[in-house]
Order: sequence, then structure tokens, then C-alpha cells
Amino acid sequence: MQNLNGFDLPPDEFRELGHHVVDWIADYLRDIRHYPVVSRIEPGSLIDLLPHSAPDSPEPMNAILADFERQIIPAITHWNHPRFHAYFSVSASAPGILAEMLTAALNVNGMLWKSCPAATELEQVTLDWLRQWLGLPPQFGIIYDTASISTMHAVAAAREQADPASRLEGAAKNHTVYFSEQAHSSVEKSAISIGIGQQNTRKIGLDDQFRMRPELLEAAIAQDVAAGKKPVCIVAAIGTTATTSVDPVPVIADIARRYNCWLHVDAAYAGPAAIVAELRHHFEGWERADSIVLNPHKWLATPIDCSVFYTRKPDILKRAFSLVPDYLKTQEDSKVVNYMDYGVQLGRRFRSLKLWFVMRAFGREKLAAMIREHVRLAQLFAGWVAGDRRFEVSSPVPFSLVNFRLKSTDSANVELMNRVNESGVAFLSPVVLNGKTCLRVAIGDIKTTEADLEATWQAIQAAAA
Ligand code: PLP
Repeated sequence: MQNLNGFDLPPDEFRELGHHVVDWIADYLRDIRHYPVVSRIEPGSLIDLLPHSAPDSPEPMNAILADFERQIIPAITHWNHPRFHAYFSVSASAPGILAEMLTAALNVNGMLWKSCPAATELEQVTLDWLRQWLGLPPQFGIIYDTASISTMHAVAAAREQADPASRLEGAAKNHTVYFSEQAHSSVEKSAISIGIGQQNTRKIGLDDQFRMRPELLEAAIAQDVAAGKKPVCIVAAIGTTATTSVDPVPVIADIARRYNCWLHVDAAYAGPAAIVAELRHHFEGWERADSIVLNPHKWLATPIDCSVFYTRKPDILKRAFSLVPDYLKTQEDSKVVNYMDYGVQLGRRFRSLKLWFVMRAFGREKLAAMIREHVRLAQLFAGWVAGDRRFEVSSPVPFSLVNFRLKSTDSANVELMNRVNESGVAFLSPVVLNGKTCLRVAIGDIKTTEADLEATWQAIQAAAA
């Protein structure tokens, strides 16, 4: 028999190591600008550095922490760096980091109300608070891990609405899903995942500002209906990935109603901007959507991962997914929300704790001020680009992403990007717009200052020279 007493670290050792780790995190956040944004390791070199199998005997924590600094950190690309401008810039704030520590310590599973009442009820409360900040009418909210998964649940609910038999019989072959040419790949993946099939997805063309053209949407739907197809879902974006363009949601909502389609709004990145009064106009009509996704882990200072999904039709979502084996039935079922009923996964992390910490520690006004500042910085940067004859701004800047390019070849732009990234000063990523390679400067980190942006711009100008 093995005595498991003292299996884990003794409390005093944990306390000491914990202090050391918190000190490390505090220094990391303070000194983050000393790190090159992009990891400089060669592919495979971390694998080569690490042992090929795990240890049979315990290793001292000090050795593990030393290896974390020596081996792991050089292989990190620092998403929490204020000059990380690739993809969408995100940030983990200190309150969110503290909440993640507590979440790990509690290690609860919020699958059922009974399995952890706090995980369920805090999720209900924080999502209702957030809904109010966003100006949305009362509706059901749930946290998934990512926007991709949120959207997959939207498309599944849409199919449930259009064809309840599909749950029993599997996917019908004639269901169709509509989204713009600029929609995130997760929308198409959703159709793949739930068996609608890529050939039943329709990519709707764009206007000159990268927005879905509603007349083309309606024509595509009408054509499909005439051919015996069954349109089930339209996905409109507020803040597309490539350009942050905003699809004309009010007109699309009218079309969705006319054809009895589920309307899902993908506001994964831009959604938090609805808390800012002067940006609210971009969100016109989203309250009419059947479901909405936005990611606090993108633009609301919350550590990855936290994707918020709202729906006005939770019963349909539940119909699509609820399947309760005997061992998960509880006495409280008729009185409570059991979040496992609203999705694929059973086990659920206590993600609302970090959102609650972030929302309380900063408050709406401070978070709105952060978003407002990011939008100001984006305008400033776009102005610098426009003022330099060698460059051009490549798409409108409604939020905090600037796409720009050197007025030269695609390869010159890629070369410029590589030089900036290799310099360690900033991280830019490419995007192809109208067939041309452009570069993106996304701003979304709580620590990014005007001086950071100047440093990025100087690195770009130096690379161009
Ligand atoms: N939707 C949009 C508009 C996005 O920009 C992204 C990612 O950047 C996604 C969805 C996918 O997000 P996630 O990584 O949370 O799945």
C-alpha cells in the first residue's frame, strides 16, 4: 500500500514557491518590453532541448522553474507584450491572472449547478452584467472556450431550429449556411464540423469596404430555395478578422427574418467595443440576432480563454445538445441552469471568475477608456502611414486594426515584415487584401502606449529603408 500523505508539495514549500512565481510574474509584466516579442528559436529546437521521456522520480521544483526560464521562455512569443501587433492583440491583466490562479486552486468543474453552484451562478451574473454594458436586451449567456466553438454551437442551434429531425437522423443534405468572403474560417469549419458540408456553404461577395453585400446574400438564398435547398443560418460579422469591417446587420436581419434563418453575429474581436458609447453605432441591429459571440479574451483584458455567447433562443440550443445520463441527474434540475445542457462539452472551467475579477477591478468606464485609447492609437498610426509617401493604408480603420502596405511588391512587404519581426521590437502579421499582401498592426494590449507605437513605426521605417 502506498501512503499518499504528503504526496503534494508541503504547504510551506508551496507558499514559498508561490511567492517566487508571483514575483516572477510581477517582474515579467513590469519588464515585458525587455523581451523580443517573437521567439527566435529554430523550429524543433525546444523539442531537441527537452528529454525524450518524462522522469521516473520527482524533480525539485526549483529545477523545473529554472528550466521554465531557461528553456521555455526563449521559445515564447509574447502575446502579453505591448508591441504584439499580429493577428489580434490581446492582453491578460493582473486581476485576470490572479483569478486564473484561484481557478486552478479551486479546480471546480461547472458542468452542473450541483457540481459547483458558484461556477454556474457567477457565469449567469457576469454575463448579465456584460450584456447590460453591451446594450443588449435580456438573454441567455454562456461561456465557451473560443469563438470558433461558440460559432459552431450557433450553427448547430440554427440547424436544430430549421430541422429538428436532424438530431435523430443526422444532417440533411440540403441545409445551407451563408457568410461573407471575409468571414472567419471558423464559420466554414462549423459547417464542416456539424456535417452541413463545405459545398453547402455560400461565401457572399463584398462591397469596396469589405462588407457583405446584402443584395447578393438575398439572391443566393432565393436561388438556393428555388433549387430545393433549406437555408438555415446566416453569419454576419461586426469586426471581420482581416479588416474589422462591419457587415450591414440591420438589412441582413431583415433577410434572415424573411427566410426564417438563424442570424448569428460574429463580434469575436470587436464586441467589447459596444461598451463605448461613440462606437455603439457599429453594433446597430445586433440585438436582433439569434445569437452573438464576443471574446473578452480578445479585447477585454481577460486571459485566454473566454468566449461569450448570447442567444435569445436557449431552448433551441438546449434541444440541440441536451443529453443527460442518469449519473448527472440532480434534484435541482428543474430549478437551475445546468450549463452542460447547452453544448458539446461536459466538463467546464470556472471561466467567469476571471471575467468577474476584470469587470470589477476596472469597471466599465476604465475598460471603455482602454478601448477608446486603442482606437485613438490606431487612428494615429494610420495617420503616420498616410503621411509617408512610401506607404498606404489598405482598408478603413473603424476599430483598432490598421492594415497598410509598402507601395511595392508583395515580397517587399513580406521582407519588411520579417525584418521587423526579427528585430524583436514588434510582431506584425500579413493579410491579403484585393490580391495584395498587406501588413497588420493590431492594437489591443492594455499596456500599449503611444511610445510603443512610435517604436513599432520606427522599426517599420528602418526596415523599409
Ligand atoms: N471570429 C473572428 C472575427 C475572429 O477574428 C477570430 C479570431 O481572430 C475568430 C472568430 C476565432 O476566434 P477563436 O480563436 O476564439 O476561435
